[in-house]
Formats: sequence, C-alpha cells, structure tokens
Amino acid sequence: MTTAPPLMVFSDLDGTLIDQHTYDWTPAGPALNALKEVGAGVVLASSKTAVEVDALRSEMGLSGWPAIVENGAGLLGAHAAPDSMVDQYTRLLAALDALPDALRSSFVGFDDMSAAELSAATGLSAKGADQAKQRAFSEPGTWYGSQEEKEAFLSQLQEQGIVAQQGGRFLTLSFGGTKAERVSALKMEYAPKITIALGDAPNDISMLEACDYGVVIANPARAPLPPLNGEDGGRIHRTTGAGPAAWNEAVLDFLARHNLT
Ligand SMILES: [Mg+2]
Repeated sequence: MTTAPPLMVFSDLDGTLIDQHTYDWTPAGPALNALKEVGAGVVLASSKTAVEVDALRSEMGLSGWPAIVENGAGLLGAHAAPDSMVDQYTRLLAALDALPDALRSSFVGFDDMSAAELSAATGLSAKGADQAKQRAFSEPGTWYGSQEEKEAFLSQLQEQGIVAQQGGRFLTLSFGGTKAERVSALKMEYAPKITIALGDAPNDISMLEACDYGVVIANPARAPLPPLNGEDGGRIHRTTGAGPAAWNEAVLDFLARHNLT
C-alpha cells in the first residue's frame, strides 16, 4: 500500500474518457500526464469487461491503479491480469443453467450468443464482441418471456444471491456491486485527500454523487442527465464539449483550481 494520493480520479470510459465512436483517448493525454506528475490515482470505471479495460488501462499507463469493470460487478486489481478472475462468471452461468428450461430458454445472454450474433446485436466490431464475451462477473442478456415469467426467473436467481440491473439495452445479472459501491471501497482503501468522478450517463450518477467533486461530460448522443445532488452547490458541474477533449480541459482546470499543478 502506497501513501495516500493527493487526488483520486474515477472515470467512466465510453463517451467520457474515450470517444464514443473512435475509441480515441489521446486528446486527454495532457491531463493524464499532469495527473501522473502530481501522483494522483486514476481509476477507470466502465461497463466494459476486464479484458477490454485492461488493454486501455495499459495504453494509458494506468496499470498501477485498480479498475472498476462490468459496471461495478467486478474489480480488476492494480497490475492484475484479467484472466485471473473467471470464478464468479462460471458460478453465474451454472446458476442460470440450473433453472427450469421454461425460464432459462427465455433469457439469451452474451454467453448464449456467438461473437457474430453479439456483433450484430450491438454494433461492436468482431474483435470488440469477442472481448465483450470474455466476462468474469456479470451476464448481460435479453429477456424474451412474459413479465410474469421474468419475475419467477429473477426470484429464483435471487435465492442464489444473483441480482439484475436493467440497463438501456440489456438486463444484466451479477452477484451485485455498482460503480458507486466500488468507489466507496477504493476511497477507504487508498484514503485520497480529494476525489473527483467524471461520467456521461445514468449509470455514472451514483459515482458522480459519491465523490467530493463531479464532472458531467456532455454527450450529444443522449438526453442530458437530470439535475444531480450537489449540482446546485457547485460541487458537480457540466462541460459543454464532449468526450476526451472535454475530459482533458475539465481535469486540467480542476488541477489548477485546487493548486495541484
Ligand atoms: Mg459512458
């Protein structure tokens, strides 16, 4: 365990630190360098899998910090390799397969789909779909049965400690954990003096509200987030620009305001 960092940054990836379409993060390079200089921790927090996040984490030179993966269902430890953690996923799939056929067959998860089918369903590239299928903590999928059957499905899974989160596109099953819960645990572990979160979407709200400061990165592709707790007092602010360029500007500005440069 290192000494407490002066600042810990928790950041979403898609539409926040990486461009939603090109996946480019390099416009944020100057701010990432500045954070390194002051010894700030940078924790990536994404719905992506450990395999997907690990590749970006290493490109960004952030492998010395943990990362929150699969929307908070899992944590990729500092310097940890993503293939060290498949136990929970194996248990999750086993619990699914133990359900009565009538319920099991109405849920089609990523594991039930080929990479080509997943690519067609999501628009991910072939490589992206392959990486998205390499899961360790959670299973997103689509429910095709009735509402009544869905309740039976979820209550039988709940008996085994499995919870469901309905996202914009998929119903995601896991043994629990959210981005905000992971942020709280990491705050306890690292005891940073100041924390700041950056995100663009509804699944970032609790993380933005859980830190000392929050930055909502504008995302022209979706409706703006509702007013957040702490926004009135100026603890949370919104950028006008989008993606990694806005991230860069917001972080450099934050460092300057807090005399951290
Ligand atoms: Mg996002």
